[in-house]
Amino acid sequence: MLNIDLHCHSTISDGILTPTQLVERAAMRGVTTLALTDHDDIAGLAKARHTAAAKNINFINGVEISVSWRGRTLHIVGLDIDPEYTPLIEGLATIRAGRSHRAENIALELAKIGIHGSLEGAYAHVGERRLIGRTHFARFLVEQGYAKDVKSVFKKYLIKGKPGYAPHEWAALGDAISWIRGSGGRAVIAHPGRYDLGKNVLRDLLEEFCALGGSAIEVVTSSHTPEQVKYFAQYAKNMDLLVSCGSDFHGPQESHYDLGQLPEFPLGCTPVWHDWKNNG
Ligand code: AMP
Ligand code: MN
Ligand code: MN
Ligand code: MN
Repeated sequence: MLNIDLHCHSTISDGILTPTQLVERAAMRGVTTLALTDHDDIAGLAKARHTAAAKNINFINGVEISVSWRGRTLHIVGLDIDPEYTPLIEGLATIRAGRSHRAENIALELAKIGIHGSLEGAYAHVGERRLIGRTHFARFLVEQGYAKDVKSVFKKYLIKGKPGYAPHEWAALGDAISWIRGSGGRAVIAHPGRYDLGKNVLRDLLEEFCALGGSAIEVVTSSHTPEQVKYFAQYAKNMDLLVSCGSDFHGPQESHYDLGQLPEFPLGCTPVWHDWKNNG
């Protein structure tokens, strides 16, 4: 049986496990092909690859790039990227540089409703200071008793229209895709069901994504209901896009799916790995 997971996070971004621990857990769960896809950073790939080799796991270099498109934030996963490709390295560095400033703004927003000390509190939860993100604020808010878990935080705080939200401009869609493609990788729209796009906007996005050289959409992910899996699989087929799957694992208590052992794609989908060597 295939046991492929092409989306997960380590302490390099907002995951709980180090790259090594993450790959060890994947091995324990029988994963045969794994991509590490930290947000806006590729610093964990070398360690993860090293551990994967020892565990006989086929390792794919990955990244999840934060993008702004028509005023929304989208995530674009890059698979099989070259971590030595300079435009990718520089592009990711620029995105990361914006994160510390946004974190200050998030803390100012939280202070407005009487939540103080969140900047230091969030930094206490980071693995790498340069990758400070909303998940770290969420963990601080859980620790302080504002919500029972990270998922619940994102219902009341840190999102548009709620306290603790700070708007931010990420990379352009075309830039993210060109860094991924230029480095020899494939671009994948992560968890499309999370963006709450109407039919017309979704079609616009997919058309633009294809025209810019995008390859696939994530169909199986912790973010999708079974209905959304079918819905996005149909879109992929109609638009001739490949499909991808990934747990989006952040930590043992924080994702719907643990690493690997994901549900199968609906019939008629072409997986993003269909022409990769070493699979199947
Ligand atoms: P950032 O890139 O700093 O804006 O943080 C985005 C991250 O926040 C995502 O990758 C998730 O890890 C987390 N996140 C966003 N929305 C939710 C949610 N509804 N439930 C759990 N985690 C979420
Ligand atoms: Mn995350
Ligand atoms: Mn994401
Ligand atoms: Mn993710």
